[in-house]
Amino acid sequence: MAVRYTARMQFQPGQDSGLISDEFLEACRVGQIDEVMFFAFAEEQNDGHDTLKRIQSWMDTLRPWKHALEAEGIEVSLNPWHSLLHTDRGRRLKPGQSWQTMVDWRGYSASAVVCPLDPAWRDYYAKAMRIFAAEHFRVIWIDDDIRYHNHAPLDWGGCWCPLHVAEFVRRAGTSASREEIVSRAIQSGEPHPWRGLWFDMWEDSHVALLDSWREIVEGAGSRLGLMSSSVEAHAMEGRDWSRWWHAIARESPPVHRPHFWGYSETPAPILVYGISQMQQHRALRPAAIESDPEIECFPYGPWNKSFRQTLAQMALAQVFGSDRLAISLYDFMGNLPSDEPERAKFLARVKPVLDWLGEQFPPSWTSYGAGVPWRADFSRNVHTDGRNDWRSLEVASRGWDNWLGAFGIAFQKEPHASLNALAGTMVWGYDEDTLRAWLAAGLLLDGPAAAAMVERGLGELIGLADTRFITQDEVLYSMEESLDAEFGLRPSAQMSLNADKPYANRLLQGQLLSGARLISDLRDPTQRVVGHGALAFENSLGGRVVVVPWDASAGTNLCTQRRAQLAKVLAWLARGVSLGSVAGGAWLVPQFLTDGTRWRGVVWNASPDAVREIQIRPPDAMGLIQRAVHCGAEGNRAEAVVRSNLVALAQPLQQWEWVVLNPD
Ligand SMILES: [Zn+2]
Repeated sequence: MAVRYTARMQFQPGQDSGLISDEFLEACRVGQIDEVMFFAFAEEQNDGHDTLKRIQSWMDTLRPWKHALEAEGIEVSLNPWHSLLHTDRGRRLKPGQSWQTMVDWRGYSASAVVCPLDPAWRDYYAKAMRIFAAEHFRVIWIDDDIRYHNHAPLDWGGCWCPLHVAEFVRRAGTSASREEIVSRAIQSGEPHPWRGLWFDMWEDSHVALLDSWREIVEGAGSRLGLMSSSVEAHAMEGRDWSRWWHAIARESPPVHRPHFWGYSETPAPILVYGISQMQQHRALRPAAIESDPEIECFPYGPWNKSFRQTLAQMALAQVFGSDRLAISLYDFMGNLPSDEPERAKFLARVKPVLDWLGEQFPPSWTSYGAGVPWRADFSRNVHTDGRNDWRSLEVASRGWDNWLGAFGIAFQKEPHASLNALAGTMVWGYDEDTLRAWLAAGLLLDGPAAAAMVERGLGELIGLADTRFITQDEVLYSMEESLDAEFGLRPSAQMSLNADKPYANRLLQGQLLSGARLISDLRDPTQRVVGHGALAFENSLGGRVVVVPWDASAGTNLCTQRRAQLAKVLAWLARGVSLGSVAGGAWLVPQFLTDGTRWRGVVWNASPDAVREIQIRPPDAMGLIQRAVHCGAEGNRAEAVVRSNLVALAQPLQQWEWVVLNPD
C-alpha cells in the first residue's frame, strides 16, 4: 500500500491568512503531503474548554485554508484538541462553565478536566461537534483525552466524582462511598463483582458519548476518528474495544490513530515497545479499518527527534500496513513551515522507501514468533496484590517482549501453538483450559507467573511447589550461574541478579518437584550457592516448561550470557523448531510477517553500533532467505548479498536502519 502523509498543523486565528495558505501549500507541495490535519485550540493555544463562540471563530479561520488545500487536491481533517481535556496545567473552567470536573480515586478534583457524565458539558460538546461537522472535514478526530487515565494532576485519572458514584450506586442497587467502591474494585483475590460493574458504567458512558457524536458527524457526511493511548492503560479503564469501533463508525470502516512510539529521541527499547503496541492494536481492531498511526514528535523537529529515528517510526508503521501516517513535524504555535524547510524535504526524500515498504507488507499479514499473548480485558480478571492503588489493576503484558526483542527473537502478541511466554499477573487473564493447552506445548514463565500458576493449582505441571519470594535483604544473592551448556552460554557463565535492577528485586524460590532439572543456581558475592535458579521440566501433559526466578516485567538486564540462556531455553521449549530469530549484534530486532503462505521479515538495528553481517534463523515455514534489501536513513535502498541465511551488507547497517528479508 502506498504511503499517505497526513501533516498535523495549527496556526493562529489572527495570522495573515494569505501568508499562512502560501506557507502550508508550499510545504505540502515540497513534502508530498496528501492531507493536512488542522488542530484547533491545541497545546500552547489552549486555555481550557473554548467557548462555542471562539470555536466558531476557529472554524471561520480554517475554512478558507481548507478550501485552498482542497483546490490543490489535498484532503483536510480536523483534530479539535480536547473533549474532556488532557490535563489542567493551570487551566480553569471559564465563567458559565459550571461543570463537574474530574475527580480521582483519592477524591482530588481537577480544575479544568471535566467529568464525561456532566449533562451540561455533554450538551456543550454536542454543540461544538455540530460546529465542527458543518465544515465537512474528511475526518473529525477525537483526541485520546477521551479516556479515564492520564489526566494530570489527578492521581492516575478519573472519574470518581459524585455523579459517577451516584450512577454506580443506582446501577448496583446499593449504597457505597467512593472509598468503598475503590477498595472493593481493587481488592486482592477473586475480583469483586463491583470492579466489572464499575468498568461497565465507565464504558457505557463513553460509548454513548461517542455514539451521539458519530451521529452528528456521519449525518453531516464526515467520519469520526479515534486516537488511543497505550493499550495496557486502556485495559485499566475496562475498555471494550468492539463497542468503541461500533460507536464511532456505522457507514464506513472506523478510523483509528494509535499511539505507538515516544515523543522524543528515545533509546533502543522504544522499537520493541512500538512493535508490541502495533501488534496489540491490530489484535483488537476489526479487519476493515483505516489505520493512521501517530508519528509523534513533541516538541517538533530534529532537535527533539532525529529524522533518522522519525523515519524508523514511519517505516514500522508501514510494516504494519498503515493507511496514512499522522505526522507531527510542525509546531502548534503558528510558526512558519518555511522556518525549517528541511522538514518538507525530509518527507519527500523518504516517501519512495515508505511506498516500497507498504508494498512489501500488506495490512492483512500477521506477525509471527514466540507467543507473548495479551488480552484487552486483562485488568477485569487480574488478581491484584491488594495495595491501595488503582494502578494495581495494571497487567504488564510486554515484559517478555523487551527481553526477546532485544535478543533478536521474534514474538507475536497472540498465543502460538507450540511456544508461549507468560510474565507476572498475565496468568490470571486466562482460563484453566487455555493454560493447560499452553502447558502441554512449550511455556516460559517468569517468577511471578510461576507463583500464580502454583496459586491456581497448576504447580505439578511446572515442577514447583511451596513457592515464596526472597529479596536481597533476606538472602544476599547477586548472581545467577548457568550449570550446563544446553541451557547457557557455557557451564559457569554468570548473569547479574543485583537488585540494583528491579527485575531482581524479588526472586521466586520453591520446592523442586521430581523431574525438575536445575539449569542455573543463585550465588552470593562469595560464589556460595544460596538458592535455585531456573528450572526445566517435562510435565504429565507431555509439555515442556522453563521457570526463571526473576521478574521479566520489571525492566531488563541484557548481556551475552543471558541471551544465550534464553535462546537455548526457547529452542528446547520449541523442540528445535525455529519461530524466527537473528544474531550479529546487540539490539538487532527481527519481525516476521505472513499471510500463511507468503512471508517477509525485517531486521532493525536499534543499537548505535553499526552492523555488517546478520545471521538469520527464519521461521521454519518461511524457508531460506533469498533476498535482503538494506533501507538506509536517507531513504536509500541497496541489495545485500545473502548466502545460507547470512546477510552481508555492502554498507554498514546504522542505527534505526533496517533490512527487509524475502524468501522468494
Ligand atoms: Zn465523574
